[in-house]
Amino acid sequence: MFTFETNVSKSFQFENLGLSVGKICVIMYFVLIKKDFEIMENQAVLKAQGITKTYEGGTSAQVLKGIDIEVGAGEFVAILGESGSGKSTLLYILAGIDTPTSGTVELAGKCLDSIKDEDMASLRRREVAFVYQYDNLVPHLTAYENITLPLLLDKKKETEFKERIVALCNDLGIGDRLNNLPSEMSGGEQQRVAIARALAIEPKVIFLDEPTGSLDSERGRQVMEILKDINEKHGVALIMVTHSPAHAEYASRKIIIEDGQIK
Ligand code: ADP
Repeated sequence: MFTFETNVSKSFQFENLGLSVGKICVIMYFVLIKKDFEIMENQAVLKAQGITKTYEGGTSAQVLKGIDIEVGAGEFVAILGESGSGKSTLLYILAGIDTPTSGTVELAGKCLDSIKDEDMASLRRREVAFVYQYDNLVPHLTAYENITLPLLLDKKKETEFKERIVALCNDLGIGDRLNNLPSEMSGGEQQRVAIARALAIEPKVIFLDEPTGSLDSERGRQVMEILKDINEKHGVALIMVTHSPAHAEYASRKIIIEDGQIK
């Protein structure tokens, strides 16, 4: 009797245990997948701490006075401020184009003050892109050649990217301008070519310095719609300097620089 009860209870416990292990596995699987998504969503593409910048010269001036910024994957951040407040200086430091007087920048997981030259070059080829106010397209190359230049420099084969780039350009509304030189395109079209060139490398983050600064208000609005769309569709983080409060509304977060600090 005792043995029988023990066996029944053991078998009962085993079945219960079997069921629990199964359930636990399923729960763990979903918990881990959810965790993975949370990590991807929360992963910072940019972390800057204690950024200061002093320009030495006739009158030495501290432009940035201790800035901390963290930008998550896929975020769209607008940096606003009065003219001369240090927005562009900050953007260039965050992108690794300029160096801070003090403070640290971690971009796409790399600490910029200790990064090797070859790692910096690889970061610029594959992970980070920059769009300037007056974009510096190569004048004697067509739109398509300008857009694909970074990929060719990275030794990618045209057969690997042509279809993707044409689809991207169709999305940006410049599909019929690909054989044109920059001088044969409007300012708005040139800026879309510059955005396509930035997106072509499928970066984690794009820095934009007043991307609508040289455009009239309608073309500026169109470029902002495109930026919002690519941010949502491609999940690329955008960090944009603008003096336009209306254009900053397209971003998911605004950072205002005042007197060298975040307001
Ligand atoms: P914003 O982008 O907000 O208009 P900037 O970052 O371009 O401002 O400039 C901030 C301040 O730093 C300005 O007073 C500007 O004159 C000064 N500045 C920018 N670059 C230099 C430089 N290379 N040498 C000296 N002063 C500079």
